[in-house]
Amino acid sequence: MLRTAEITAELTGKELRGSDAHQLYWRSTLEFSLDCFICERTGRTTVFERGAERALCSGSRSGFKRHHTAARIAAFDTTNGREGLAVRALIDFWWAPFTDTRDGNKTAAPTSHPWVRLHLGYYCKDAKESGTDSIQTNLVRPHELKCKHCDRVLGVDAQTPAVRLLV
Ligand SMILES: [Zn+2]
Ligand SMILES: [Zn+2]
Repeated sequence: MLRTAEITAELTGKELRGSDAHQLYWRSTLEFSLDCFICERTGRTTVFERGAERALCSGSRSGFKRHHTAARIAAFDTTNGREGLAVRALIDFWWAPFTDTRDGNKTAAPTSHPWVRLHLGYYCKDAKESGTDSIQTNLVRPHELKCKHCDRVLGVDAQTPAVRLLV
C-alpha cells in the first residue's frame, strides 16, 4: 500500500544571519531508511532526489545489489524564518509486509527505527567557494556545523530530525 512519511528538521543559531553568514540552504536530496519489499530487508538506506519518480535502495552486502524502488519525494519545502532554517519533506513509498530474510525482523511502516540524512549547501564569501555538509539522525547534539574553508560556524543542529507516518 502507498504510505506517506513526513520528515522535518531545523537548524538554529545566530550564525544563520548577518553579513558574514554562509547562505546555508537545504539541498534537495536525502537518505531515509525503509523496509524494502523488493530485497526483503528491513532498515535499508534509500536515496531520494527531488523530482525523481523513484528512489534507490542500497540493497545489502550479500545478495541484492542497489536497485530502484517505488518511493519518491512528494513535497520538499524549506523555510528560512526568524527561528531558523527549516525543512519539511513528504516521502511517498510503497509498503508491503514481509519477514526479513536474514534476521527474521517483522516489517513496519516506515521502519521500526527510522534514520534520515539531510544535505546542506553553503557559500563562503571569504574563500569564494561553495561547500556541502549534512546532518543525520544518529549524531551527538547540539552540534555546530562549520565551514570547511574558514572554520566559522554555519549554524547549530540542536534537534534530531523528526519522522512521522502520515498515511
Ligand atoms: Zn531493496
Ligand atoms: Zn567560510
